Amino acid sequence: MVQSYRAGGAFRKRGAVSRLSDLIWPPRSLLSEEIVDRPGVIEPALWGELKFLGAPICACCGFPLPDYAGAADLCAACGADKPAYDTARAALVYDDHARRLVLDLKRGGRRDGLPVFARWMAAAAGEAAIRADFIAPAPMHWTRLAVRSFNQAAWLAQALARTAGKPWKPGALTRIKRRKSQAGLSASERQRNVGGAIKASAAFKGKVVLVVDDVFTTGATLEACARALRKAGAAEVHAVTLARVVRPTDILI
Ligand SMILES: [Zn+2]
Repeated sequence: MVQSYRAGGAFRKRGAVSRLSDLIWPPRSLLSEEIVDRPGVIEPALWGELKFLGAPICACCGFPLPDYAGAADLCAACGADKPAYDTARAALVYDDHARRLVLDLKRGGRRDGLPVFARWMAAAAGEAAIRADFIAPAPMHWTRLAVRSFNQAAWLAQALARTAGKPWKPGALTRIKRRKSQAGLSASERQRNVGGAIKASAAFKGKVVLVVDDVFTTGATLEACARALRKAGAAEVHAVTLARVVRPTDILI
């Protein structure tokens, strides 16, 4: 509950600040210093440069595939070792533009892009967003939350829940162990770092759950969320992120 209160509180407080600043300064593009006609938009020149993730992708983890071989097509990693989630989807390829959007949200607390991010994520999640009983953010440990004062995954989940018309469950997935920062860790180190660190509430029993995070990097966080949800008896676990790393060299955050 600490998490939901803090996430909601920060949301309202920053919302008021942002509305005030909108009255004083003209809105800026989400991707540049360009002045735009309303908050939360991107000028046409840069809009065309955003890379949206679409078919062909792995039916499970959403990784881009070279060719489309069928709706049940899996990437090599999922073929060898199926993740605990049913599907994971992302709106954007994690490149320099997506990185700016994510860091402005995560480190700068910039919220004017949330409605458009929510629409992109709803489109990426597709069926999972329609069928979900609950939308839940990937959790942040309370000590980290105390330092940062907000969880960007909770903001994204709340915005997506509004767009999709679904209930959201902040605080129902909790991080019971503070993990080291993921930055600079390899895929297997990330897996060990988050393993067993997340707990899911019994409210998810028999439910279809859509977990939201900002970036799918190696999938370790979403895998830990999915395992916790399976243990709590969730019927289906899906995940959606704003962006997805598709090249290992982009694992920098
Ligand atoms: Zn896959």
